[in-house]
Amino acid sequence: MIVADTLLADLTTLRVGGAAGRLLTADTTDELVAHVRHAWGDDDWLVVGGGSNLLVADDGFDGTVVLVRTRGVEHDTTTDGVTVRVAAGEPWDAFVASTVERGWTGLEALSGIPGTVGASPVQNIGAYGVELSDVLTRVEFLDAATGERAWLDAAELELGYRTSTLKHGRRGVVLTVEFALGTDVQGGVPVRYAQLAGSLGVTLGDRVDPAQVRSTVLALRSSKGMVLDDDDQDTWSAGSFFTNPIVSAGFAESLPADAPSWPVGEDVKLSAAWLIEHAGVHRGYALAGSRAGISTKHTLALTNRGGATAAQVAELARYVQVSVLNRFGVALVPEPVVVGDLLA
Ligand SMILES: Cc1cc2nc3c(=O)[nH]c(=O)nc-3n(C[C@H](O)[C@H](O)[C@H](O)COP(=O)(O)OP(=O)(O)OC[C@H]3O[C@@H](n4cnc5c(N)ncnc54)[C@H](O)[C@@H]3O)c2cc1C
Repeated sequence: MIVADTLLADLTTLRVGGAAGRLLTADTTDELVAHVRHAWGDDDWLVVGGGSNLLVADDGFDGTVVLVRTRGVEHDTTTDGVTVRVAAGEPWDAFVASTVERGWTGLEALSGIPGTVGASPVQNIGAYGVELSDVLTRVEFLDAATGERAWLDAAELELGYRTSTLKHGRRGVVLTVEFALGTDVQGGVPVRYAQLAGSLGVTLGDRVDPAQVRSTVLALRSSKGMVLDDDDQDTWSAGSFFTNPIVSAGFAESLPADAPSWPVGEDVKLSAAWLIEHAGVHRGYALAGSRAGISTKHTLALTNRGGATAAQVAELARYVQVSVLNRFGVALVPEPVVVGDLLA
């Protein structure tokens, strides 16, 4: 179905963004392939899943948007567990819930993340000590550069902290995602995140029933406004708006001694939330007259309090960036994909 002038605000969780030139919705994988090939002939094109990692400009997107609504999950049992292949348009959290119900393990800590399965490799989604790369084996990909439809091994995607080649330059569309999951006879995946271990009342490294991990993660996420809720404007966001900066160990030593940090190879990862708060931008903060604000529950979430524009979200993002740069000399990098001329 072709629709003209659909507002991208209606397709994104930040609820901002002007009209799409035209919108093609794909309900089957064959349709997705046909729509994307068709869209390549246009001036510009954009694939949209759940719109939960997108900031789209108020003047919209003057090209073709392909909305991914494909469905289907199939699996094979293996000696180690299960191999699962999932259509790109499957809603991520419903899929995770189904794996937990079936007694499959590996995804439970990624419960409550919005969006679609097809977008999950784009920024190598992660939470509570688990990243997609822990369980992703390969993706079926339609490559815009070559026109080829082929399976790519996870290693070819260069998955890293909130990044992959798909987020940075490799254009095309993920059609199917394949995971290697365990089964709960193995007792669940070891808990790797201190806050989660604390809430579960276990020690880091303990194996916990996946259903218990899922319910605890959902409760933790809800307390931070990180589970979508139409009635809670703190969740009208793109999740964390900035990634945690990675700096050299030498630079990290120049920061205040109480600034949290974690070693990443020879470098050091900093807490973006700590930097923002200690630069004087607190939860609930908004610029005068703006409908965009910092979540009252989570420093890293920039939210739409109802009626915000993309320009207001971008203005707040720049304010946060400048505050942290001036105070600590650290440049915060936005995590969502920005469509339009909004953030340098
Ligand atoms: C409340 C909230 C909490 C969040 N928490 C987390 C979290 O804990 N961890 C985390 O990592 N992220 C989190 N996010 C971010 C977001 O949910 C994820 O990045 C998610 O994977 C985006 O999926 P989507 O379908 O909504 O992608 P979209 O926003 O629709 O698209 C994002 C990017 O992926 C591309 N894309 C989408 N589908 C495809 C496809 N099939 N093939 C190729 N490219 C595609 C788009 O073109 C775009 O560039 C959160 C967001 C919100 C709103």
